Amino acid sequence: MASEFDIIRRYFEHHSDSVKLGVGDDCALIDIGDGKDLVITTDTLVGGTHFLLSEDPFAIGFKSAAVNLSDLAAMGATPKYALLAITLPFSDEVWIEGFSKGLYSLLNQYDVTLVGGDTTRGDILSITLTAIGFVASGTALRRDHAILDDDVWVSGSIGVGAVGLLVQEGVVKFSNEDERDFLRQLRKPAPRIELGQNLVGIANAAIDISDGLVADAGHVADKSGVQIVIDFETIPTHPALNSSRRELKIKNSILEGGDDYELLFTSTIDSRDQIENISCDLGLVLTRIGKVRSGLGVVVRDDGEELIVSSEGGFDHFAKTK
Ligand code: ADP
Ligand code: MG
Repeated sequence: MASEFDIIRRYFEHHSDSVKLGVGDDCALIDIGDGKDLVITTDTLVGGTHFLLSEDPFAIGFKSAAVNLSDLAAMGATPKYALLAITLPFSDEVWIEGFSKGLYSLLNQYDVTLVGGDTTRGDILSITLTAIGFVASGTALRRDHAILDDDVWVSGSIGVGAVGLLVQEGVVKFSNEDERDFLRQLRKPAPRIELGQNLVGIANAAIDISDGLVADAGHVADKSGVQIVIDFETIPTHPALNSSRRELKIKNSILEGGDDYELLFTSTIDSRDQIENISCDLGLVLTRIGKVRSGLGVVVRDDGEELIVSSEGGFDHFAKTK
């Protein structure tokens, strides 16, 4: 079966001169004049696939907004408007009220106005949010501008949302407090809007980590025509995961898990001080995890070994090179 990315490339990728950036980045960019670019993105959450139907509807509403605002963050955009298309298999008003409160709690935090949408009945609960923002013309952060010798940075802690999923599935056990952290990251991720905005003019490339660290680093590498080398040891994670970071489930969560919605970005060595200042100002940990070099795809270095990660379609498999 064709991969998600093959389907997009084959059937949905068409270019138009009026569009500054179309299919292939976190958001599309459309020049609307007046020194501004419109930044637009959409994401769907499906009940049973992206969340459990038994989950708190507030968290589902919150996450629907978060995953979209995270894509705007990855472009350095200021969010402004949203559209909501929702398919409901029921008309449980307690659920809908909870969902609406969660959705608005994040939209209001960023002054985003819901300006339209569609409400339908169907067999499966499906939520599609479209988010719209703006950036000064030509300043958006993109996946395709990583430059040789750039540092590779990530915000926050990586693998936490994925471990939240393992906790939710009962596959791993931690203290109650740590489990709460993991589940909070899974269900209520914080879109890094302020970080994205601060990185405009500093980062050369950026992406939000929704498919997993290696997969998303792979998207930057592919689009920029470079190789990204990541030092596994330097990847920041939750303190409770540090000692077990080489256990398979935890290692896979750090390298492959999605659901963190942190930003991965690249920038020149000269920007290190500015980035440290942004980290202090925002109270958000920013960590250098690797470098951009010539080549293809992503290489993860660990314990003197290099693991080559396929560049095609993001994360496909690991193959040891040594
Ligand atoms: P993200 O994880 O950042 O939300 P995706 O991996 O979902 O991005 O999508 C990758 C790119 O493909 C994005 O630019 C997205 O807009 C585009 N895309 C995904 N599905 C479709 C589709 N059905 N039609 C057109 N473009 C699509
Ligand atoms: Mg994205």
